[in-house]
Amino acid sequence: MKILEKLKSGILISDGAWGTFLQKKGLLPGECPELWNITHRSEVMDIVRSYIRAGSDMVETNSFGGSRFKLEKYGLDGKVKELNRVAAEISREAAGPDKLVLGSIGPTGKILIMEEVTPEVLYEAFREQAIALEAGSADAIVVETMTDLEEAILAVKAAHENTNLEVICTMTFDKLVTGEYRTMMGISPSEMVQPLIDAGASVIGANCGNGIAGMIPVVEEIRRINRQIPVLVHANAGMPVYCDGSTRFPESPEEMASYVKPLILAGANIIGGCCGTTPEHIRRIRETVDKLEKRN
Ligand SMILES: [Zn+2]
Repeated sequence: MKILEKLKSGILISDGAWGTFLQKKGLLPGECPELWNITHRSEVMDIVRSYIRAGSDMVETNSFGGSRFKLEKYGLDGKVKELNRVAAEISREAAGPDKLVLGSIGPTGKILIMEEVTPEVLYEAFREQAIALEAGSADAIVVETMTDLEEAILAVKAAHENTNLEVICTMTFDKLVTGEYRTMMGISPSEMVQPLIDAGASVIGANCGNGIAGMIPVVEEIRRINRQIPVLVHANAGMPVYCDGSTRFPESPEEMASYVKPLILAGANIIGGCCGTTPEHIRRIRETVDKLEKRN
């Protein structure tokens, strides 16, 4: 109950990007990010320390692609336990005992509706990953970047039923031309709320997507369904711009910070970043939240 307990004192700040940070540190296309927990331990530790220094109350683990289905692409599916456990150990060691460590679990890339995998096999893969993250002393599991509600439910259940950890689940929404928000698989923010809570999530929300401004209507939609459930937002630094073969994220730390107040007013309880956000983004979000809370 660590996160729910800490939320009683006010808004919490999460960390920023992992994938784009690893790339900045030299992770090459085609390399397995989770293998860096073994081969580049100090670089991974440094990412965690950068976010703690910037003011994060919680940091994730380098285990987003740590399911057997993602790792098997690199011939590493035999290393699920080790890579996830070490991921949590690294974040714990770098963050210290007082900060929260969120064990990251991303999508498997297997599509249930196409019958590429059975629900039982998916559940087992998530179970294995969640147990290893708990063994490495994560405080909570964050199931994230989900687009399929069934997969999200299986991941939340697997973590909730097989560990003693709080489970957070965030899905990724895009804005349609109609102005509504849907995941790639057609799920709306309001449709995910009750099923994820029923599966065992104690915090829900949104991550990645098109930038922090779009998170406001998403949080408002969640709040129309449920006023109590804590809501976490990990927003991208805007829509990625592809230029000269590389990806750039346009939102500056100042721009992102300018949306923090309306995001809190919409009902967000935990705010952090996703793709393209840096420790400087987190620092500005921290400053903004601290100023707002002092005023109240
Ligand atoms: Zn992202």
